[in-house]
Amino acid sequence: MRNPNSGAPFMDSDDEIAAACADLSIPTLLLSCVHMTDDESVRQSILEGPLKPAGLFLNEVQGYMSEEDKAAARTLALDIIRDYRDRGCPEPEPIDAASLKQMMNWLVAGEVGDEYVPMMLEEMGLDGRDAREAELRSDPLARREFPVVVIGAGQSGLLAAIRLEQAGVPYTVIEKNPGVGGTWWENSYPGARVDVGNHFYCYSFEPCDHWSEFFARQPELQKYFADVMERHRITEHVRFNTAVLAAAWDDAAGEWAVTVRDAAGHSEVLRARAVISAVGQLNQPLVPELPGAESFVGPSFHTARWDHSVDLAGKNVVMIGAGATGFQVAPAIAEDVGQLTIFQRTAQWMFPNPDYHAKVGPGVQWALRHLPFYGRWYRFLIFWPGCDTGLAAAIVDPEWPDQQRSVSAANEMARMMFTEWITSQLDGDTELAAKVIPDYPATGKRTLQDNGSWLRTLRRDNVELIRCGVARIESDAVVDTDGVRHPADVLVYATGFRVNDFLSSLQVTGRNGADLHQMWGHRPAAYLGITIPGFPNFFCMYGPGTNLASGGSLIFHSECEMRYIVGCIDLLLASGKNSMEPKPARYDDWYDRSQAELKTMVWSQPSIEHSFYKDARGIVHSLSPWRLVDFWSWTREPEPADFRMH
Ligand code: NAP
Repeated sequence: MRNPNSGAPFMDSDDEIAAACADLSIPTLLLSCVHMTDDESVRQSILEGPLKPAGLFLNEVQGYMSEEDKAAARTLALDIIRDYRDRGCPEPEPIDAASLKQMMNWLVAGEVGDEYVPMMLEEMGLDGRDAREAELRSDPLARREFPVVVIGAGQSGLLAAIRLEQAGVPYTVIEKNPGVGGTWWENSYPGARVDVGNHFYCYSFEPCDHWSEFFARQPELQKYFADVMERHRITEHVRFNTAVLAAAWDDAAGEWAVTVRDAAGHSEVLRARAVISAVGQLNQPLVPELPGAESFVGPSFHTARWDHSVDLAGKNVVMIGAGATGFQVAPAIAEDVGQLTIFQRTAQWMFPNPDYHAKVGPGVQWALRHLPFYGRWYRFLIFWPGCDTGLAAAIVDPEWPDQQRSVSAANEMARMMFTEWITSQLDGDTELAAKVIPDYPATGKRTLQDNGSWLRTLRRDNVELIRCGVARIESDAVVDTDGVRHPADVLVYATGFRVNDFLSSLQVTGRNGADLHQMWGHRPAAYLGITIPGFPNFFCMYGPGTNLASGGSLIFHSECEMRYIVGCIDLLLASGKNSMEPKPARYDDWYDRSQAELKTMVWSQPSIEHSFYKDARGIVHSLSPWRLVDFWSWTREPEPADFRMH
């Protein structure tokens, strides 16, 4: 069978191909040509010739090349594609490892370190194999008698289901919402879209040729997860409209008792040998307790509970909070509303991304479907600039002066670049500049992608940015801490989530009746972000210490986590034991090392007063301080010596 990544044969005309090429990422196109040509000298002329990217930058899909070079590259590519078509689009021969490394280096205009090569190859899956499907050693019959409950059907819960299905492990997914998608089900607010390039922000083992935008909007993302769920025949295993209230470990039976309640209020206890929590970190809306909030007479709602029945046209809308969510909401509603008043407690750093709202043109879609490995190299191209470079830039240089402003030379560079992007849009408006240029180091909070729509929105006559706090809410207004009253017909809380209350929607009781939340106290943690001592056969996806603030994608992280979890189940069953949990020493060591790292990162800077990265005491528990390549390598398979088996 033809490798699906080598593209579907085509017979398009020269003109059609030339038109498609006009749309394409030139570095990706040339690497696809390396696969297409059967002439070694042509290959070498691409990889060693003058037409090459001079660098790769986040979301810079074109690669740094002059316009003349790009035109020359298109001409060269057209010849190669035409020849490939005329030869009947044969399946390209596999390329040897050394040449693949050469291609990677060419693409990044530098060196892809040896430790990254296997990870990137796996992520690209050039051979068409799903390399993260675990290889199992346990008896398939034992797996069939190992029922698992998965809590949540967001991107990680759906992935858990797919992997358990492949492993032949029976499972039930419990989902509180009526549909799949988690975050992408709940956050239907106007303007909601992903900010990791979609040709990377999707499962590595699924096609990525269908996205209509480079950063898809919520409905398309939700539909994607629904389609994947159908394709993998997961739907019949999901109980929608059902919440998990509690999970309790029954030591005598060596099982979990999972209490669920459906929308009609019926409760039931499910027995499972293992539980996978896939509840996410951005799951429980945070609505701050503001004086007088209950007296507000108009509609008010959190962005994750957007009330689509409320017509905003011509209304005075007050939005409290403007992080990643508010930043997307404001441009989407400003034209319709009468007046939009935005309370932003802390200004946000943002960086330019011209493709942020761009559609995927027909040329790119054609290339993704037909040009060998175009989609796979495109995935690489989006992944690489966000792969550990940002992490290095987040490390605080203790010698660096004025840490209120920046934390290292690289961080100062980011500050200057982001500041230039912001000021370039303000036409010398110093009053607005004072409001929108952050006063803390760049990347210290979540950095936002911007195509100019935020500042364009703030400069509208019917939009006002308030940079002080909320003093109180009245029946028809919000009063700021300067005493100014802002009339409000509708109140939108874009105030984020209770990120630091991990797994707060359920009670988890482990061995000897230990309560997880009590055990955690102020130190929520899991070994590798996944397992917890005293909580046997309990696995977290997107658990404490696994959020990503400097690159990568949560889908990539989930794929690493789930390979590890299937590996754990396999290890347990192959050992003939009933339960496994990490050794306390491993857990403590992990926590201590993670905290030591996190304290050296910009996210912990005391100058950042408000940030959901920090808990109420200013400690970061949600984020991973580790390089993606380390997390990938540590989670490839469980280390038996890390666990106690019973
Ligand atoms: P957020 O980043 O926590 O922002 C919440 C906003 O509400 C901030 O402006 C915050 O101010 C403000 N706020 C909170 N409590 C307040 C209070 N008591 N008084 C006044 N203001 C208050 O939440 P979010 O915007 O929902 O984003 C959360 C995360 O979701 C993002 O970082 C990202 O991971 C994800 N997300 C992603 C996308 C995307 O992919 N494009 C879009 C939306 C969300 P301070 O900043 O001062 O705390």
